Amino acid sequence: MKATEIMIRYGELSTKGKNRRIFINQLAYNVKQSLHGYPKVKVRSDRDRMHLILNGEDDRQVMTQLEPIFGIQSFSPVVRIEKDPELICQTAVEMVKDIWEPGKTFKVQSRRSDKGFIWDSNDINKEVGAAIFHGIEGIQVKMVQPDIRVEVEVRNEAAYLSCETIFGAAGLPVGSSGKGMLMLSGGIDSPVAGYLAMKRGVEIEAIHFYSPPYTSEQSLNKAKDLAVKLTPYVGKIQFITVPFTEIQEEIKRSIPQGYWMTVTRRFMLRLTDKIREIRHGLAIVNGESLGQVASQTMRSMTAINDVTTTPIIRPVITMDKSEIIEVAEKIDTFTLATLPFEDCCTIFAPPEPKTKPKVEKVRQYEERLDIDGLVSRALEAIAIDEIKSGDSYLQARTQEMDDLF
Ligand code: ATP
Ligand code: MG
Repeated sequence: MKATEIMIRYGELSTKGKNRRIFINQLAYNVKQSLHGYPKVKVRSDRDRMHLILNGEDDRQVMTQLEPIFGIQSFSPVVRIEKDPELICQTAVEMVKDIWEPGKTFKVQSRRSDKGFIWDSNDINKEVGAAIFHGIEGIQVKMVQPDIRVEVEVRNEAAYLSCETIFGAAGLPVGSSGKGMLMLSGGIDSPVAGYLAMKRGVEIEAIHFYSPPYTSEQSLNKAKDLAVKLTPYVGKIQFITVPFTEIQEEIKRSIPQGYWMTVTRRFMLRLTDKIREIRHGLAIVNGESLGQVASQTMRSMTAINDVTTTPIIRPVITMDKSEIIEVAEKIDTFTLATLPFEDCCTIFAPPEPKTKPKVEKVRQYEERLDIDGLVSRALEAIAIDEIKSGDSYLQARTQEMDDLF
């Protein structure tokens, strides 16, 4: 039996008191965005549930779109019918018949918010249960962990029946926590950090530093393709490319080798923070993981963090590499991240970066540089691309190269 609507149960947002409306509106907006290819679907949200009225659209296809949306606890394909006791029983039997196989057990679970309906919820359980029991030969009732849970809800406007519940992505609706700037390299960690921040409701814009001609167009395209992998959770992502060559050359010329890395990171953070300010972000998100490399010791982080007081969200800070890789595989960024294109950090990486840089020393060395000039020239030359799902940068480029020969 074809569902007439999909019922969405909210996740954690149901516990957010006064802010609940904001969360629900954000979720409704995100759902509408992800269903733009299904124009007949109508989204209706109330305090407890969201209903997608399908108007003939395919329920399975619509449900596939819902899977990655944060803020959804679970959803069910639902048949909406008139509040007629006989019709409710008949429909329930047909729905269970559709999915029942010998040996499978069932249970009816009902709710009645229309207090005028002739049956209370116990009656509904009993009557609908009996109809299914007599209507399908061999079916058994099981109160604890049944195979099929038939949910019947009688509301003022209609009755709703469903017998399938699919788990959603949980988390909070993207955007409900505000906007953060994701420092997105071409590596394994930062896309995972972006995904985890989005799971807690952060809308992200990606910031990528690149140093042509030392880094290739391909390494930039790789970072853009990583951003593409994050679009199922948000729809689209603004990808901000920041030219970093002049700054890296300047650092190499004027700063002692042991401090290249610290000063480089401080510039990345300064620039990210400026862009955040201009674009009204509230936080910075990065893929730092404690102790993973020289720039990620606590002392290094102290020396780097010295340039801003903006909150920095580090979703993978306490995760082991293997745990990060597990998530990277789940969101399909791992293979892409391990393609060997040089990164602006690897090219200028000093042979022995300090793992315990001193803040006073870094500040002192930086006095040799025209910080404001370097920062403002980089800011003037940033480029912004809108990354959408289905985009492909590395492949498009390979095709272009092939066509040359
Ligand atoms: P990743 O796997 O994310 O590249 P990593 O373990 O290689 O991380 P680093 O290279 O030290 O670690 O970078 C730490 C964090 O700094 C990255 O997770 C990312 O958030 C940010 N970062 C590093 N390089 C860049 C870059 N070229 N553009 C934007 N952000 C960067
Ligand atoms: Mg890296």
